[in-house]
Formats: sequence, C-alpha cells, structure tokens
Amino acid sequence: MHAFKYHRASSANEAASIVARNGEARFLAGGQSLVQMMKLRFVSPSDLVDLGSIKDLAGIKADGSGVTIGAMTRHAEVAGSAEVRKAIPALAALAGTIGDRQVRNMGTLGGAIAHADPAADYPAAVLGLGATIHTNKRKIAADDFFKGMMETALQPGELITSVSFPVPKRAAYMKFKNQASRFAIVGVFVADTAGGVRVAVTGAGPCVFRSKELEAALSKSFTAQAAAGVKVSDKGLNKDLHASPEYRAHLITVMAKRAVQSIA
Ligand SMILES: Cc1cc2nc3c(=O)[nH]c(=O)nc-3n(C[C@H](O)[C@H](O)[C@H](O)COP(=O)(O)OP(=O)(O)OC[C@H]3O[C@@H](n4cnc5c(N)ncnc54)[C@H](O)[C@@H]3O)c2cc1C
Repeated sequence: MHAFKYHRASSANEAASIVARNGEARFLAGGQSLVQMMKLRFVSPSDLVDLGSIKDLAGIKADGSGVTIGAMTRHAEVAGSAEVRKAIPALAALAGTIGDRQVRNMGTLGGAIAHADPAADYPAAVLGLGATIHTNKRKIAADDFFKGMMETALQPGELITSVSFPVPKRAAYMKFKNQASRFAIVGVFVADTAGGVRVAVTGAGPCVFRSKELEAALSKSFTAQAAAGVKVSDKGLNKDLHASPEYRAHLITVMAKRAVQSIA
C-alpha cells in the first residue's frame, strides 16, 4: 500500500471539496473494498476522506411510500432495522446476507453501490426496486446508475448521500452464494412494483442487469412456474473458477423461481 493523506470530514460539503481539490483523492466509507484494493495496489489514492463522522449521511427514514437510507448506513443497521423489515422485508433480508458480521458492521450502502462489484448484493435491490440514488449534485435513477464492471454514473468526486427505495407490492431476493465470501455467484431480486414487475440479476454479468425475459413471464403470471419456464441466454455472462456462463444462466432461472416461491 502506498502512503496517503488521511482527512476526517465533518460535512458532506467538506468531504466533496477535499476530493475536488485533490484529483487522486477517494472517499473512505467502511474500507471493506477500498482498503483491499489499496493493499493490492489496484488503486493508490493520494488522500482518503473519511465519511464516518458525517452524521447526515447515516440513518434510515421510512414513510408510507418508501424508505430512504443514508449512504453511510452499515449493512447490519439495514438488516436489523424494524422500519426496513416492515416496509421492504426483502431489502433487510438481503443486507443480512452480505459477507460476515464484521463486513456487515463496517460496510455501507453508499460504498457498496459506488464500488459496484459485479457480485455485490445491494445493486440487485437498488435496480430491482427502481430506487433513486441521491448525490451531492443530483438524483440518479437506478436504471441509469450501473454502467459496467465497477463502473457507475458517478462523476469524479461525486458523493452519494442517500438512496430512496419505493415500497413494492411484494419482493424477494435469492442468491446462490460463494461459500467463502458470501458474494453472489448469482443473485436475483424480484419485485412486483407500482410500475410493473422488475427482475434484477447480480453476479452473473459485468454488472447488475434487468432480465427482460423473466420480467415478461412474471408480468403475465407472477408464479414460480412462470419463472421456471424461462430459459435465460448465457451470452455475455461471466466465466470464472466459480461457474460457467451456462451454469450462471441456469442459476438465474432457479433463483428467480425460488424468489417468487418464497413470496408465495
Ligand atoms: C470478506 C468480505 C466479504 C464480503 N462479502 C460481500 C457479500 O457477500 N455481498 C456484498 O454485496 N458485498 C460483500 N462485501 C463487500 C462489502 O459489502 C462492502 O460494503 C462494500 O464492498 C463497500 O465497502 P465500504 O462500504 O466499506 O466502502 P469502501 O470500501 O470504503 O469504499 C468503496 C468505494 O466506494 C467509494 N465510496 C464510498 N462511499 C461513497 C459515497 N458515499 N459516495 C461515493 N463514493 C463512495 C470509495 O471511494 C471506494 O471507491 C464483502 C467484503 C469483504 C471484505
């Protein structure tokens, strides 16, 4: 790891202005991905701007129509929140499946979606529920946020402040996990929302994506049988030591079927 300068920001504006002044600076949330990347020298920031003391960035607010979660809210808080469990139980359950206890106590929603690991869980909920990402500059619809492998719509120095999730009629998340890290080999978030059925797939491609085939089938009939009847194409899916594209395509159908089954 290369040397860097450490800053502890006390407001979102201060954090953003330090990063704006230093081109190679990075925000530091829980360090659960960034520190590993630094140790491997995949990134070598000149400055780290710790967001941990910015009170406005953490916390959960729910009203009848949705839940807004601050970027610095830890996975364990989302998993254990009575408000999230009541409004969107699938989101709380998803947060509870991330990594292990340490990762859930340090990792954050903002860090997870800014990092945009292709196998991360939160992107599936963000896209599956059609959430809105709030930054210090603008609002970004989930459909416009995830752009590719570890690539998002965020501009350099843009800070995620919170994410708003609309309450779906019903939703569930199922993942076939890597037994060591718990990252998704394939994870599928199925949501029946006011705007229609949305199915988001993580772990299978370079970044989270919506399965139009599953959405079409579940829009006609929101049943496990309808999901099971969909043959997903393996074109463009990931190939690594964990699974082939063909196996991942098969898992997408199986996880979607199990997600719908769990709702029933
Ligand atoms: C052993 C292990 C197992 C894990 N298992 C899983 C798993 O099963 N499922 C899963 O989904 N994830 C898993 N993770 C990842 C974990 O969920 C982390 O929360 C996630 O990687 C982000 O970490 P962080 O919040 O600490 O952000 P950091 O590591 O601090 O930051 C990550 C990136 O996001 C940027 N960033 C952080 N906050 C903001 C913000 N508010 N605005 C803009 N940019 C920001 C940083 O500059 C950095 O580039 C695992 C991690 C580990 C170490």
